[in-house]
Amino acid sequence: MSAEIIDGRKVAELVRASVREDVDQWVAKGNRAPFLQVVLVGDDPASIVYTGTKTKACKDVGIDTNTLVLQDTISAKELKGIIKDFNQDDSVDGILVQSPLPSHIPLYDVIETIDFRKDVDGFHPMNVGRLSVDQPCFRSCTPAGVMELFKHYSIPVKSKHAVVVGASNIVGSPMAVMLSRENSSGKATTTICHKYTRDLTQHTINADILVVAAGQPHLIKAEMVKEGVVVIDVGINRVADETSEKGYRLVGDVDFESVRKKASWITPVPGGVGPMTVAMLMKNTLLAAKKSLYPE
Ligand code: NAD
Repeated sequence: MSAEIIDGRKVAELVRASVREDVDQWVAKGNRAPFLQVVLVGDDPASIVYTGTKTKACKDVGIDTNTLVLQDTISAKELKGIIKDFNQDDSVDGILVQSPLPSHIPLYDVIETIDFRKDVDGFHPMNVGRLSVDQPCFRSCTPAGVMELFKHYSIPVKSKHAVVVGASNIVGSPMAVMLSRENSSGKATTTICHKYTRDLTQHTINADILVVAAGQPHLIKAEMVKEGVVVIDVGINRVADETSEKGYRLVGDVDFESVRKKASWITPVPGGVGPMTVAMLMKNTLLAAKKSLYPE
């Protein structure tokens, strides 16, 4: 068996095209374009790339955006003050604070300062809590993007055994919630694994659907999965590669070449989940502008 490839670039473009159309209609009705405020603290190279990708995607779908770049010496109090101003500003629909933050700034103090109605990343405890009780909310973009991939390819999730490797607040945990809720789209029997899990293979081998978000290059090998498994590789890892101009290449958490021979469906890295994350951010920003989730 050789797996069918889940083409995240293609699906992300479809999501973006639909957002673009909705933005056009929204503006044609006399509304201003949605506006996303990005906050970047410091000069972490990866964060600069990520915020650049997001603002480029905004422009592509007609969302206005601005990136406020702050020195990494800023205090938590000052940063929170700036966010409170954005909360009050009616021309700002969505607020995104790029992580990581400098170590002297507690991330969740900052996330909780964002008005949950503008929390387009879906990280605020209000949105996380509402997700776990099936209430309308901003859903974390990466797992929401994975659910969109299942939908697009008509990959059944209901009643399957889903195994999520990784339990972070931004990917693994909300992914497990989305997969497992019996009153929303998931309805899968769901196992969550993390770095304290004993014998990872004992769990992954039983997965009908395996979502891996551990940040460990090639953690999942062919002998750890069963025939026909659906594999979603969220991981993005830089590994040294002298043959590449940059000196590195990107690989996922799954050993793609060996696992694809056993899987029924698999996402590549790059070109799988990554583009979906950005597309879902566009969708969330439009929802924020339209106040669809939290009407006034
Ligand atoms: P994180 O470091 O916050 O969390 C990693 C999780 O994996 C933790 O729960 C940890 O316990 C678990 N883990 C680590 N090693 C493990 C092991 N050997 N066995 C089992 N569990 C293990 O990372 P994150 O922010 O959730 O990101 C995970 C990966 O996904 C990273 O490679 C990151 O770059 C990538 N990522 C990709 C996207 C995207 O859009 N594709 C978005 C966010 C994160």
